[in-house]
Amino acid sequence: MIFDSHVHTEFSTDSQLKIESALEAAKKLKLGIISTDHIDLNYPEKGKFIFDIDNYFNKYYKYRGDNYLIGVEIGMTEEYSDENRKINENYDFDYVIGSIHFVDGIDIYEKIYYKGKEKSSTYRRYFQAMINCIKTHEYVDSLAHIDYICRYATYEDSEIYYNEYAELIDEVLKFIIDKGIALEINSRRLDKAYIIKNLIPIYKRYREMGGNFVTIGSDAHYDKNIGMNIKEAFSIAEECNLRTVYYKNRKPEYM
Ligand SMILES: [Zn+2]
Ligand SMILES: [Zn+2]
Repeated sequence: MIFDSHVHTEFSTDSQLKIESALEAAKKLKLGIISTDHIDLNYPEKGKFIFDIDNYFNKYYKYRGDNYLIGVEIGMTEEYSDENRKINENYDFDYVIGSIHFVDGIDIYEKIYYKGKEKSSTYRRYFQAMINCIKTHEYVDSLAHIDYICRYATYEDSEIYYNEYAELIDEVLKFIIDKGIALEINSRRLDKAYIIKNLIPIYKRYREMGGNFVTIGSDAHYDKNIGMNIKEAFSIAEECNLRTVYYKNRKPEYM
């Protein structure tokens, strides 16, 4: 079974997708999905980007099986690393992804974050935050969207060029390889050839340093985006000689 391992449903503050619609959309595409609803404990507005995990399991557990698994996307922050660790320990997730959504307490989705900041130092700070956070969230199964900042940064050219941040990216990659954490190929941005071209050196370097596993996720928040650009993600994995996996019971399964 091929799994889209990064799908948001209505337990995420920014999605209204019903699990039943997600499962139906996935079935049409002959895909399995893992729901990975958002927990960002440092989100500044109270009650947002957090959800009742018991209720999530109560509602979704009946669907768990060959085509559906239960996951979570934890927004990694140093301040909440103990709380995040408890969430990881207290629930029986199939799959936990770790993400950087905030840098220095600011949501990097916000355009204001980039105002007056020069690209190189902003991106260096982003990778430094990733290093600091992954080190306190070493239990995650996969590191999500390493190129997340490229979605929202307001620079004329917001792409990451591996060579410009090589030593920082290497530090991230070395840590995840040592801990057996997979690297996600987030397919959301893979509709453009130049984006794929710029991402490939990062995945090649991961392989070169001893990395083996990649997960693939569309980061869909709507049913129409499930499985989006998944073929492109597979071709990156193939080109970089990486094994595509999904996680069940916190263990990698080959796709
Ligand atoms: Zn994310
Ligand atoms: Zn996500």
